[in-house]
Parts: sequence; structure tokens; C-alpha cells
Amino acid sequence: MYQVAVNASVKAIVLDIEGTICSISFVKEVLFPYFISRLPKVLGRYPYPLTVENIPNDLTENEELMYHILLKFQPEYRSSYEALDKYIRNLVSMDVKQPVLKELQGFVWQVGYHNKDLKAPLYPDAIENIVKWSKEGKKLYIYSSGSVRAQKLLLGHVDAANNPDADSGILNLNKYISDYFDTINVGSKVESKSYSKIIDIIGHSPEEILFLTDNVNEAKNALHVGINSIIVVRDGNAELSKDDKENYKLIYSFNNLV
Ligand SMILES: [Mg+2]
Repeated sequence: MYQVAVNASVKAIVLDIEGTICSISFVKEVLFPYFISRLPKVLGRYPYPLTVENIPNDLTENEELMYHILLKFQPEYRSSYEALDKYIRNLVSMDVKQPVLKELQGFVWQVGYHNKDLKAPLYPDAIENIVKWSKEGKKLYIYSSGSVRAQKLLLGHVDAANNPDADSGILNLNKYISDYFDTINVGSKVESKSYSKIIDIIGHSPEEILFLTDNVNEAKNALHVGINSIIVVRDGNAELSKDDKENYKLIYSFNNLV
């Protein structure tokens, strides 16, 4: 079998999510459409305009939490159902990273995971090796541009029907993860200073850290500060150039690492 040797001194492994442990299509084809499909129900629950004074007194706890998130949108967008619906759909379709939208999406996904409407389809080799590495005493970390909250939700609701450790087919991998990094707590994934921060937080030397990602720019910036980095190739990931294939170490499954 195709094998890539890992530096024997590696004590910590940092994992990207999309394109590395989970397909890119899950986010684009499942999470985002799920949010849009829930919008009529979420926004249709309240009388408009949405204002502090207008909060209905018969809301469930989740509905009240959701109302308070919606109040963070500018008043002009809260004037009517149509205005708010149009504004939110626009943000989503243009992929604008608006903080209130992110918070709202995070909440809708949280409810979806809890209802078991959503399950995260991690690659089986990723699940297997996360458990194995953890048992071997390696420390595991996540670094994703999705928020830490979204990362924990995803890792906490892994679709694993045949896994003996799963609870009703859902596996919680958070117990194997030591810490979570995102663009808020360490910064952009394509700047080497973010990886320097990660080295400081983990507290190991760069050669003791391995970073697995599908993104060449991320690997380049991690390598720049001395972190071992390997590109993970999965179906549906962006195509690598000929040069990239020659210049970087590649794996097609976590089982390729020895
Ligand atoms: Mg990725």
C-alpha cells in the first residue's frame, strides 16, 4: 500500500475539517441548504417588526434565544418578514461572513444536530485514526475557518452507524480533541503567523507537530514555520497542480501515514 512516513518525533496532530476529515460537499450541499430550508419556520414564528418590546411571551427557550440573535440585525432588516428573509438569503447566496448570520446558522445547525436531522459524515479512516492516535498518546487539534462552536458541533455528531462506541448511530469525537483553533482565536489559515500562534499554544516544537490539510496554501504557511505538513487528497477536493503534486507530501487516506 502507498505509505508516507511521519516524523517519529510527532506528538501533536492538527487537523483541518473540510476536505480533510469531512467532504467539502457536506458543508455546501447539506449544512447550507439545511439552514435555508429552516428559514421560513425560524423567521415565521415571530410578529414583525422584531423589536425588544415586541418579544412574544409564549416562546420556547430556543425560540427566545433565536429572537435575541435576530435582534442583532440592523432595524431596517427587522421591519418585516419579507425584508429579513430577503436580507439573510442574500448574505448566504453571496457567502458573506456576517457575524450575526454565522451565529444564526450555528444555532440552527445546533438544533438540527440535536434533533438528529444533521449528522456529520466523517471519512471512516479519519474516525479510525483519530481514535488510534489519541490512544497512542498523541494530542489532537482542529484548525478550521468554521467557528469553534461549529467545529465542536460537527465533531460531536459524527455519523457512525456501525461503530460500537456510537450512541444511536452518533459518535462524539470531542473527547479525543485537546483544543480547537479558528480564524478568531489564532487568525487566517493562510498566514504563517497563525501557525506560530498554534505552536505557542500547543507547547511543542514545530517538528513535533503534524498538520493535515487539503489546502496547499495552508500547508505552505505551516511549513514556513517548520510544522510538518501533508496534503490530504479526497474525492471532490480542488485539483492540485502538477508542481504541487511534486512539491508536497500527499496522502489519500489517513491510513497512508506510517
Ligand atoms: Mg480544508
